[in-house]
Amino acid sequence: MVHVDDHATPRVLVIGSGIAGILTGIELRARGLTDFTILEKADTLGGTWRDNVYPGVACDVPAHLYSFSFAPNVHPTTRFASGPQLWDYFREIAERYRVTEHIRYGTEVADARWDGSRWTVTTTTGESLVADVVVSAVGRLQQPSLPDIPGISDFRGRVFHSARWDPAADVDGARLGIVGTGSSATQMTVATAPRVAHLDLFQRTAQWIFPMDNTPIPWWRRTLMRLVPGYARRYRAGIKRWVDEIGRAATGDPRAADERRQACVDALNTVRDPDLRAKLTPDYEVGCKRLVISGEFYDAVQRDNVEVVTAGIQRVEADGVRTTDGELHELDTLVLATGFHADAYLRPMTVTGEDGITLDDIWADVPMNYKSVALPHMPNFFLINGPFSPGGSASVLSIIEIHVGYVMQLIDRVVADRVALEPDPDRSAELLAAIREQASKTVWGTGGCSSWYLDRNGVPLVNPILLDDLAADMAHPEPTDFHAVPR
Ligand code: NAP
Repeated sequence: MVHVDDHATPRVLVIGSGIAGILTGIELRARGLTDFTILEKADTLGGTWRDNVYPGVACDVPAHLYSFSFAPNVHPTTRFASGPQLWDYFREIAERYRVTEHIRYGTEVADARWDGSRWTVTTTTGESLVADVVVSAVGRLQQPSLPDIPGISDFRGRVFHSARWDPAADVDGARLGIVGTGSSATQMTVATAPRVAHLDLFQRTAQWIFPMDNTPIPWWRRTLMRLVPGYARRYRAGIKRWVDEIGRAATGDPRAADERRQACVDALNTVRDPDLRAKLTPDYEVGCKRLVISGEFYDAVQRDNVEVVTAGIQRVEADGVRTTDGELHELDTLVLATGFHADAYLRPMTVTGEDGITLDDIWADVPMNYKSVALPHMPNFFLINGPFSPGGSASVLSIIEIHVGYVMQLIDRVVADRVALEPDPDRSAELLAAIREQASKTVWGTGGCSSWYLDRNGVPLVNPILLDDLAADMAHPEPTDFHAVPR
């Protein structure tokens, strides 16, 4: 039995003030549901774009698509926006839509507990907050994965994760080491290679690089976007169609996959030195890992002051990194661009739902959920961009808009019918089994690589669905998939 506390409008707690938290706030306000607080552990908003400030940080989804559909970003002067430009955009949007006034900073959630009628959310300082609805907007890539390399604490220089850039680190004229060759490392390589004395890029696995130049947006187009009603939206829609086409390759369209593969191979073949080209040649299928998108990476690693180090890292010493071939790579700064614990979504938070069932119970085998937005046995606990959201190079903005739109319809029903909603466990399991089955047949599951898409059993934690299909599937909640109890 599920009952909602008899409160006129629901009190909502949103966890996280990144893009998903900001949009949730905008949509709650648009519904007149102003009794909500966004809990943010840091001292400012912005999620990814607050945390990632490494040199060269940018979004490799074209900037006009990486903006809310109702507020096209007309400012970018190049195809890809930089991290600081995106942070400015989201902060401006949060101000404009009066979300900022709902954010409580320095408040980290430790625990959430359902008592049969409402949620009690406890912070890491022991404070308790009560809510009828909890929305988790915590993001999938926010817990840095730190490699277990012996000797790291012996290093005399600066060492930090790419998402925890040390503002005191000065790369100009320095000897820089970067561990990893994912999107973060490649963006950082392109930006720092011309500035450093020497760069060692420690590559464990070569990456496929999809070439896309950061072309300027001509002045006349930017003017049209500002002055002509509807132009920015039409331009954004055009870019969306083009990016969706790339997405088709990930979801199994053989023609799109061939085109994508050929583009990556052609880009790789621009590397002149055959030994370097061999080092940079992946031994798995294009798209198995999340594609790195860059028109400049291969130029950067062909510079005289850059070395791609493929010998394994043995240990870190006071003066640098010792590789398994015995060589010591002397460094001033070592950046661990080693990715994130995508499988730690919501963790280390503990969540206890009806009948004492915990998140650890329902996620013991696989992060069970309903369409990435709701959890069985967790009434009125909703997720944005939860596990099994689409992967590939899809714009996370589009995914978040679809998820928030769906969750808002659930909340509409919570308000209108005075109920608490939880997805049917069997239906959740059935839908998830179908997603996992499909995903395991895609290049993410069969492509012969390891990646943050995969769970510990090697099954992709992503949904191989095109965004238009996701939007159609999630246009309206299926009432019979949810249990609701009137109060
Ligand atoms: P990542 O793609 O997970 O890459 C981590 C890198 O670190 C890999 O090259 C990995 O090697 C290496 N690595 C991990 N542990 C290591 C160890 N112990 N020793 C040596 N190498 C190690 O991480 P990321 O680059 O931060 O990107 C994560 C995701 O963030 C991306 O896939 C993307 O979704 C998102 N992102 C997006 C953008 C954008 O522009 N939209 C920019 C940055 C990041 P292996 O391959 O061998 O595991």
